Amino acid sequence: MSASSQRRGAAIYLRISLDQTGEGLAIERQRQECHRIVTERGWRVTKEYVDQSITASDARKRRPQYDALVRDFEAGLYDALVCYDLDRLTRQPRQLEDWIDAAEGRGLAIVTANGEADLTTDAGRLFARIKAAVARAEVERKSARQTAAARQRAALGRPPLGVRLTGYLPTGEVVKEEAAVVRRIFALFHGGESLRGIVQTLATEGISARNGRPWNPSTIRGILSNPRYAGRAVYRGAETGELGSWEPLVSEDVFRVVNARLADPRRKTVRLGTDRKHLGSGLYACGVCEGPIQAWSGERYRCRDGCITRSMVPIDSLVLAVIAERLRRPDMADLLAAPPEDATNAMDAVTAAQNRVDAIAADYDGGLIDGTRFAVATAKAKAELKTAEGRLAQLAPNEALATVLAAPDPAEAFLGSSLMAQRAVIGTLTTVHLDRGTRYTRTFDPETVRIGWRTGASS
Ligand SMILES: [Zn+2]
Repeated sequence: MSASSQRRGAAIYLRISLDQTGEGLAIERQRQECHRIVTERGWRVTKEYVDQSITASDARKRRPQYDALVRDFEAGLYDALVCYDLDRLTRQPRQLEDWIDAAEGRGLAIVTANGEADLTTDAGRLFARIKAAVARAEVERKSARQTAAARQRAALGRPPLGVRLTGYLPTGEVVKEEAAVVRRIFALFHGGESLRGIVQTLATEGISARNGRPWNPSTIRGILSNPRYAGRAVYRGAETGELGSWEPLVSEDVFRVVNARLADPRRKTVRLGTDRKHLGSGLYACGVCEGPIQAWSGERYRCRDGCITRSMVPIDSLVLAVIAERLRRPDMADLLAAPPEDATNAMDAVTAAQNRVDAIAADYDGGLIDGTRFAVATAKAKAELKTAEGRLAQLAPNEALATVLAAPDPAEAFLGSSLMAQRAVIGTLTTVHLDRGTRYTRTFDPETVRIGWRTGASS
């Protein structure tokens, strides 16, 4: 639409808030004023847009006619806009600036009936811009106040305001029943269970999330990855490096192991970490070709290449019984003689690498190194951190065994653990090879299941 020779097409925008009667002008009065301006300027009215009882200061509240106004402007349906005052149009600084841009860049004439702003003139645009700047400063001051308060809370180690964390009251006190569920979730994952396995376990036990809905893998992951459960203060999703004033629900070590495993990209493909429905699938090996054993139809295991096909139930029963028997022996604590040291070393390596990353950041903040050196050093330290975390993640399945061994009756604890934890223990302690069964007989021969003990586990 050409604005030069033809009469301008003017949109009229009217808004009244019925809930603010003291402030509001009657809509009829607004309308008359606006029409007067259109007539005085020699324009013509294209359309009236009226929003009733809707505030302009809340961006989330929908104003259907305002939206139509914006759409119609984008579509080029008018080139002048008349409203009673700029506050009627919008109280959102960003929206106001959009209108100022439209006035300047696309020649939209904006005039207010109360005479405060005529955006066809320099002075009018200056006024509108000052008004927008003041409004924006007010919004920023408000959020700065909130931000400062939140940062201070985090620095003081107080629990953040807002939605409360499962397991704690907003004031930071522990909610006993919820805390027990959180601890259980950590214990299950720490013991080698998968996210989906935990969801199933909790569903079986009739435990739902706080909103009454069933748990799902992403809510479980949210719990496991929240540093506040280890007592660490968090601000804007990042740890402040301070300890919180609340009681941690899990130890620092457990939290670190759990999160190393969560972060490990191999977790989804790693043998022991994937969800399995059967004890031995992917875990047992074929006695003929050494290839992995898979679950086959009709409760059977089968080598991937088809060398052998065996019934599941007797094999799994035998493996469980043998492991349980091993765990009943008095020297069973020796089973873990080596692994914990490895785990400690791996954890120390993670801590050291993390400290290095932090130290480099501190040097940069303190002006001791420049941006280039910061980038190089950070990349190197982060690579080390990743390697250390990967090592820790690989050791994590041992935690299932540690959990079992820490129980008063390890054999009982093993037999009562989840499938994933049992798989982790079996994988840590043994190698299981399945040989060909005897043809034409249904009798199970235990000799066809070869259980080899890994170093440290035999005796
Ligand atoms: Zn095979």
